[in-house]
Amino acid sequence: MSQAKKTVSCPSCQKTVAWTEENEYRPFCSKRCKLIDFGEWATEKHSIPGVPVFPSDDEGLEPVQ
Ligand SMILES: [Zn+2]
Repeated sequence: MSQAKKTVSCPSCQKTVAWTEENEYRPFCSKRCKLIDFGEWATEKHSIPGVPVFPSDDEGLEPVQ
């Protein structure tokens, strides 16, 4: 019954973002903010000194059995 659209706050800039199917970057307000947030995740929260950022066990590491 309500015509009010659901809105969320952009995690990057706190801007009010309409939660719509058209907004492919939700909950971010834009692609830029989405990339910013991902960048922070990749560089800060996921960084472990001395450990590769993307440890891969798909190739190069043969299981020793
Ligand atoms: Zn934003």
